[in-house]
Amino acid sequence: MCADAVQPHRIIRPDKDHFLSEENPFEAMMSRFDFAAEKLNLDPGLYKILRHPEKQVTVSIPVLLDSGEVEVYTGHRVLYNTSRGPAKGGIRFDLAVTLEEVTALAAWMTWKCAVVNIPFGGAKGGVVCDPSVMSPGEIERLTRRYTSGIIETLGPDSDVPAPDVNTNERVMAWIMDTYSMAKRHTVTAVVTGKPISMGGSLGRKEATGRGCMFVTREALKRLDMPIERARIAVQGFGNVGSIAATLLQEQGARIVAVSDKSGGIYNEAGLDVQDVKNWVLEKRLLAGYPDGEAITNAELLTLPCEVLLPAALENVITSKNAPDIQARIVCEGANGPTTAKADAILEEKGVFVVPDILANAGGVTVSYFEWVQDRGGYFWDEETVNSRLERIMVQSFEEVANMAARHGVTNRIGAYMLAIERVAEVHRLRGMYA
Ligand code: NAD
Repeated sequence: MCADAVQPHRIIRPDKDHFLSEENPFEAMMSRFDFAAEKLNLDPGLYKILRHPEKQVTVSIPVLLDSGEVEVYTGHRVLYNTSRGPAKGGIRFDLAVTLEEVTALAAWMTWKCAVVNIPFGGAKGGVVCDPSVMSPGEIERLTRRYTSGIIETLGPDSDVPAPDVNTNERVMAWIMDTYSMAKRHTVTAVVTGKPISMGGSLGRKEATGRGCMFVTREALKRLDMPIERARIAVQGFGNVGSIAATLLQEQGARIVAVSDKSGGIYNEAGLDVQDVKNWVLEKRLLAGYPDGEAITNAELLTLPCEVLLPAALENVITSKNAPDIQARIVCEGANGPTTAKADAILEEKGVFVVPDILANAGGVTVSYFEWVQDRGGYFWDEETVNSRLERIMVQSFEEVANMAARHGVTNRIGAYMLAIERVAEVHRLRGMYA
């Protein structure tokens, strides 16, 4: 877009109420978007378009509870941008869901899909509810009625949900079934993250952690640091953290620390990740694991190591602890683990950050593979899935790092620039429908 930018360039900022607190990860994301847009000298008209969601749908969801009472829940589905293809993004069931948050997450998905150059736009959905106090039957009825409420947006060519906070492959199966009943035929490609037996993809479960492994490996290579000598600390030992730790250890790295919500463990000589996994499988939490020293989550972040892989929560690397971070590389498995203030400190320290919209994009990439397989009715073996994922992650890493180097910006801003440029380019080519 740079070549066609309208002069004089002027970014029009949305009114102040759009801004949430400085540490809000979504606003931090949009402030990075603004900065990248300025760097790209983005056309002000396109800036305005990309700063607004395409479509926001809010529905009331009446559900017959097991008690015989009726409760009415509120659900949202936001399609942020579909210029590059069908909207893609998860659905969460959580009391903290708001339209603002869902919109910001949908924007996030737009940039994430564009960074890895898969032909999807960005979406997100959510229902304000507490599934921990609902029975499976109530959750199923909620899911089906919500699906029915947003059915006009859904479809393999328009909007493809996936699991997110408190939703899983069971919920995806209900969405797929509800949609298919309305269409009078089975439509597997309307959701991803489905059970394998009904059109899910091999390798999907491991994809985000595997993607983290690929980009960590590439970052080490780029900095001329042999993986065999890399000490890695991983925060979060769930889907992303435990898979990334396992695969990085397989690559020869030393996993010196891992943590979960019960705290962390540190072993300078390197942990046996499989043994830790077995412990967690049995005891559910890391606490008490014998073969290491107990540490706090805060201590884990500032350990002496080559790579820090936050894979739990947002906002864990802040202006308070960023000065003490010793890692040379931070690979963001979690969404939004680094605040904007901490970004500046890490940049000054010369820490090489692999930003979330690249580092954890392995999941959405294999969701894309799932959609492709469903549409083709032809399923790939796991090796094919993994090698295609590797190709996309390695290439995206190169593109982000090169963009950052070319413009003298951080990898995060480089990733946003790459994403915005890709989305903006399609808008420019498609023109404006009036
Ligand atoms: P998960 O629920 O499987 O695991 C989360 C882990 O974080 C658990 O080990 C939990 O104990 C730990 N944790 C929770 N609270 C903590 C705390 N206060 N301090 C330290 N650890 C804590 O979740 P996941 O799927 O591994 O996702 C982790 C992060 O990665 C999230 O930010 C998620 O949005 C992001 N992400 C996940 C995927 C995916 O495909 N699973 C894709 C993209 C991004």
